[in-house]
Amino acid sequence: MQQTDVVPALPKPRAGIERIEAYVPGSAQVAAGVRAIKLSSNESPLGASPAAVAALAGLGTSLALYPDGTAKKLREALAHRYGLDSARIVCGAGSDELLNLLAHAYAGPGDEGIITQYGFLVYKIALLAAGATPVIAREVDCAVNVDAILACVTPRTKIVFIANPGNPTGSFLPFAEVSRLARALPGHVVLVLDAAYSEYVTRNDYSAGIELVSRAHNVVMTRTFSKIHGLAALRIGWCYASAEICDVLNRIRGPFNMNMAAIEAGAAAIADSKHEAAALAHNARWRPWLAERLQRAGLTVVPSETNFLLVRFPASPGRDAAAADRFLLARGLILRRMEAYDLPDCLRVTIGDEAANHMVADAMDAFMRGDAGAGHD
Ligand SMILES: *Cc1c(COP(=O)(O)O)cnc(C)c1O
Repeated sequence: MQQTDVVPALPKPRAGIERIEAYVPGSAQVAAGVRAIKLSSNESPLGASPAAVAALAGLGTSLALYPDGTAKKLREALAHRYGLDSARIVCGAGSDELLNLLAHAYAGPGDEGIITQYGFLVYKIALLAAGATPVIAREVDCAVNVDAILACVTPRTKIVFIANPGNPTGSFLPFAEVSRLARALPGHVVLVLDAAYSEYVTRNDYSAGIELVSRAHNVVMTRTFSKIHGLAALRIGWCYASAEICDVLNRIRGPFNMNMAAIEAGAAAIADSKHEAAALAHNARWRPWLAERLQRAGLTVVPSETNFLLVRFPASPGRDAAAADRFLLARGLILRRMEAYDLPDCLRVTIGDEAANHMVADAMDAFMRGDAGAGHD
């Protein structure tokens, strides 16, 4: 009997997944023997609230029990803090989980999701994973542009993701512009306002979007405990949305997507307004200080409303962003490379503690002056 080579059939993921470039988190690696200072993931230099750390301490005795699948304690703490209806809050394992759930719930094969030129990479990954097509709206001067987004709307558009303020740009969209976008989008298009950095904003023409969610059935605001609350390790995010959108998310999320440590620490952190105020005051002091030092060193800094700065380097060899990254790494300073965002001439630096900010400013001075080692190490 004749035998042909049988190629075993392999499992094949849904279309779109091959196009995903996996998210690469901020590096934590430096050369052996150098003390690492991580400024690549916008983590809080003040760490977590002592109340949140204390809330974790007693949990060891109840690890055999499933957590409350509705995260009621955390939702009620959030509702109390912001004056919201706790039934219209859904919590997630980081806001990343909620962004993914929203993409999967509202967009699929044949649908389009609008993201912006320098939008957070998670949006694109979430849309592709859902089988939908990401459509990219241009930004203007590293800021989200409402007219560019509206020009991308087609009958296939199902969802729009914007970060406000933006990551990695740090820029913000005034409330009047966000309102204009919300009003102009068709009612069946979900508008996701990712407000991961909203607590750091010092402008008074900004809003995270709570008022818009309250009046429009298609607007969702997402928030995180990973930034100002210093709890990135625990993976805690939440969203505020219409009852209808919350109902959809509650059907598709894992029944126990929030673990007990996240619920307890999150509830304690949101009640510790003193710690949050200290983190805000630290950032409000050091963000302009570092921006000014970097500008004086000859660098271009995008105006930021966040806890990081996007820094543009000159094109000259030995003075470019890649050379700066090597120079800083040799001193233990880990910044974020921006090739994945198509900003290869930029680095993103998190506002660190006082010592780290001085080190960054001094190192950038030395690099731009061309001191020993600049561009060579
Ligand atoms: C850090 C960040 C988040 C938060 O992600 P978590 O999953 O909550 O840690 C969301 N959106 C943007 C734009 C961010 O930079």
